[in-house]
Order: sequence, then C-alpha cells, then structure tokens
Amino acid sequence: MEAQRTLRRPISCVGIGLHSGCKVNLSLKPAAPDHGIRFRRTDMGNFEVPATVNNLAGIQLATGLAREQVSVETVEHLLAALVSMGVDNVVVELNSPEVPIMDGSAAPFIYLIQEAGVKRQQKGRKYMKIVRPIALSRGDKRIAIYPSDHFKVTYSVSYDHPLLRHQSRTLRVTEESFVEEIAPARTFTFLKDVEMLRQNGLALGGSLENAVVLGETGVLNNALRFEDEFVRHKILDAVGDLALVGFPVIGHLVAHRAGHALHTEFAAKILEETAAWRLIEEAADVMPTPAAVPVAVKGVASL
Ligand SMILES: [Zn+2]
Repeated sequence: MEAQRTLRRPISCVGIGLHSGCKVNLSLKPAAPDHGIRFRRTDMGNFEVPATVNNLAGIQLATGLAREQVSVETVEHLLAALVSMGVDNVVVELNSPEVPIMDGSAAPFIYLIQEAGVKRQQKGRKYMKIVRPIALSRGDKRIAIYPSDHFKVTYSVSYDHPLLRHQSRTLRVTEESFVEEIAPARTFTFLKDVEMLRQNGLALGGSLENAVVLGETGVLNNALRFEDEFVRHKILDAVGDLALVGFPVIGHLVAHRAGHALHTEFAAKILEETAAWRLIEEAADVMPTPAAVPVAVKGVASL
C-alpha cells in the first residue's frame, strides 16, 4: 500500500501576485492524513478553502477557488508541484488572495517542497483509476481521459502565431519527469494581449521575470528553457487543474487547445462520471498484473 504524504516541516516564501501585483507571503505546512490540500487566508481569519472542484470560481486566465466569497487565485502551478511531488496533505497559507507567480513556472514550488522534505504518513493513499473513457469538447478545444496503467498526459497546442503554430508532447508524469521536464516551463502570453490585460486591471505583476512574452517576430525574453516550453507549460497547467479531483489519477489525459476553463470543467465532469473510474488503494506500478505472470506451458516450462 502506498502511504499518504505530507511535508516534514513548514516552509515559507515571498512573491508577488501576477494579476494584483501585490506582495504575498506563502507558507506550506504539514497536515494530518485525509486533510487534503487546503488554502488558508491568514488575512481573513484563517478561513479555509479546500482545493476541490466544489470550490471552483473565476476561471479566466488562471484557476481560482472560492468558498463563501473568500477567494484564492492562480492555484494551478502550486497544485501541480504538490501533487507531482506526492504531497497529499498540506495547509497552504496566504496573506492575500493570490498565490505568488514566482518565475511563472512550478520550479520554485518544487524547490520549496524539496527543502521542506516529504514524509510518509500512517494511512493508505487512494488513487482514482480511470476504467472507461470520458471526453469533453467546446468548439475546437478538446479534452479526454482514457484507461492506462500510469498517469500520462498528451497535450497539443496550435496558435495563429509564426513562432507557435503547433506543439505536441506526451509524457508519463512521475515525480522525476515532472521535476525535470515540466516544472521549469513558464507561463506565456502574447505581446498583443498584454495591453488588453493591463487595461482590465490584470497582469499588473506580470513582467519578463515571470512570463514568456511572444512578440511579432520573437520571444522578448532572452531565451526559452525548452524549445517546446509552451506545450510543456500547458501540461503543467493541466496537471495542476486535474489535482482538483482530489485523488492522484491513473489514466491518460489527452488535451488539444484546452485551457483552465476546459481543464476544470473536465475535472468536475470526471467526478460526476462515477461509472468511469474506481478508487483503488495501490498504484498500478505496485499492483501484480496477472497477465504478466509467466504461464507454465506443459512440456516447455523448463525452457
Ligand atoms: Zn500556467
């Protein structure tokens, strides 16, 4: 049985909110088994907002949660880091409505979690194993999940931009692959959209320090971290949004041109489709697979 996990010790950092531009203190604290991931607003009497689809709110350019009008914005990169590092139970304290954007990727959160350390707890973890396909589309945006022995993500994007026509990637998501290949990929935006965002009071904390900005003829930042950093970041977002189902998922998520709105609508749909999954106590990796057991054939078994 795989044990649930939490942090070994509390850890904190300071950053700014991408949209508000305000300074934010973020602390990650250990929590008991079955606690789940819960945000706590220290500036609002320690009011808690659990990271579940029931609390989804205000999905525009980032994923937001709210309960009784207390909101927490831009949760997806931190959620992706937590679930990929196998952290089931944690209190996320914030003194502002927005998770700090850091460098626009999940790498700083991975660093925080590694610094705090992760420890096993005295209770088994449940996984959501997909047993039937589930699909959802909105116009040309599509997302689906299929049965698989592992958690895998296939993502493809296409834009009407000379530098970003089409990118696609499939990845089996493990702690190692997430840390190496996905976590460092930064959020991105198009220069033509930046002015519109600012006029709407959004992205006030945005800069080349925390986003890749695509101009007409090139990337305004000095360099990309990966040639296909854009689609890798979409995988990061999808992993974070899917975390809102509340269990590690065993299945193959396939998304095309999706975004936070579709990811989160899909997370809610998965929870509703109870015949398409079952909760199991062990990951596929550690389950004995009957088909893999060698079958002794009379007379040739000794070969
Ligand atoms: Zn993102």
